[in-house]
Amino acid sequence: MEPAKVAVAVPLSSSPLAVTAPWQPPAGALWGGVWRDGETSFTVHDPEDGSRLGSVTDASAAEVGAAVEAVAAAVHSGQPWPAWRRREALQRAAALLGQRRVTLAELISREGSKTVREADAEVSRAAETLRLSAEQAGRLTGETLPFDDTARGAGRLGWYTREPVGVVAAITPFNDPLNLVAHKLGPALVAGNGVVLKPAEATPLTALAFAAVLLDAGIPADRLAVVPGTGARAGQALVGHPLVDLVSFTGGHRTGDAVARAAGAKKTLMELGGNNCVLVLHDADPVRAARAVVAGAFGVAGQNCLSVQRVLVAAPLVDRFTDEVVAATGLLRVGSKRDPRTDVGPLITEREAARVALWVEEALTDGAVLRAGGRREGAFHWPTVLTGVPAAARLMVEEVFGPVLAIDAFDTVDEAVARANGTAFGLQAGVFTAGLDTALAVAERLRVGAVMINDSSDFRIDAMPFGGPKRSGVGREGVRYAVEAMTEPKIVAVRRD
Ligand code: NAD
Repeated sequence: MEPAKVAVAVPLSSSPLAVTAPWQPPAGALWGGVWRDGETSFTVHDPEDGSRLGSVTDASAAEVGAAVEAVAAAVHSGQPWPAWRRREALQRAAALLGQRRVTLAELISREGSKTVREADAEVSRAAETLRLSAEQAGRLTGETLPFDDTARGAGRLGWYTREPVGVVAAITPFNDPLNLVAHKLGPALVAGNGVVLKPAEATPLTALAFAAVLLDAGIPADRLAVVPGTGARAGQALVGHPLVDLVSFTGGHRTGDAVARAAGAKKTLMELGGNNCVLVLHDADPVRAARAVVAGAFGVAGQNCLSVQRVLVAAPLVDRFTDEVVAATGLLRVGSKRDPRTDVGPLITEREAARVALWVEEALTDGAVLRAGGRREGAFHWPTVLTGVPAAARLMVEEVFGPVLAIDAFDTVDEAVARANGTAFGLQAGVFTAGLDTALAVAERLRVGAVMINDSSDFRIDAMPFGGPKRSGVGREGVRYAVEAMTEPKIVAVRRD
């Protein structure tokens, strides 16, 4: 069997990432059209070896407030910023991402936990997200309204246009530090809004580098602010600010609750976690399914909202499937992010790796069987495959956000669907089957945002409506759908009688 590939990307280069100082921002934050340093700062480290990468502003509530006020002033200044200029700036930004690909991939990999191959693939995705965002400039349309459909409206002519909501607060996680920022800033800006971004504590340098790209591409500097800092201070101040019109948050579901409380009665979009399940039905090809599941479970060391966490396999196939998964997992190369041959790098912190190891330990204590992995060193956790994990184990119930996969057998499709739906989450699912009717029937019954037939849960294109029900989120991202959410209809009616 061929080795399973975790990341499918063109390698950056054939040599490991150079150990040099990465790109540095002009200052630790950006607001009011000016790069500036706040009163206090924090140091950004490479989680692999603890080396210092740079320093950014640790924004206070007052500094966040100043950033929001500056963006609000620009948005409400009455200065025109026509859609064609927005489109052109975003097109230039997409091209600039390509030109700065090596710098950006290095930043993503160094401050986050992606391998160089995974980081390189993310730069391409972000350029695609900006390209899709630019295209939306021509689709910001409204429609005429049938005022004379009622006697009271006769003699009136009316229509609506789509207007920007105003000031968007964007809060992003560490695991896709460029593309998830692009998914908020691209749609917000093409719709004509201003944005204040609070990036994840672990990955602010990539966000600042992306802001530099946008400014160089012609996005008006006063419409964009980046305020690195903690969630508890900068994040809370941002989402609670009265001049913020919409909060777009991606992160964990418990953080989502804190964001909702602080935001109050504001429009809020939330992309939260998953506990994604793949079903391998009786008529599936177990080898094909195993390869896809291994790639979907262990990419970015499992720190991906779409990662496969649970697999339910038709009982007659489960031994063959498990053997294939174990063999493919054993071929994955765990190692330095900097090495282009690495498949699985470190987790974002040693603490996270220790938490994942604890969950595995708990499952084993309660009767699970270790089939592969189970090893941890510092921030590295080896890709781990378990069978017989009890239904109540945290590994089955919560989002592990690490490289751990639980395989179990099922007898009937009804049982499999019920178990797949049996968590608080509903982001995506995968179904392997040769039968079209079965595939469609199962897809209909899975309570998730997307079902990938004959693939793992870990697939999306940036143009699709993205998100899920239950604790997986509120609303949908995906460029066109985010643009829709970040605009509001404005009605104009003319009385002609
Ligand atoms: P996190 O929830 O710890 O942090 C996310 C962001 O929220 C960070 O910028 C953080 O500083 C900020 N934050 C923390 N507390 C806050 C508060 N009280 N108020 C305002 N902001 C606050 O998440 P993480 O560990 O960075 O990322 C992992 C999580 O993100 C996982 O649950 C994963 O599933 C989820 N995620 C979801 C998607 C999706 O699109 N559905 C994509 C990627 C990641």
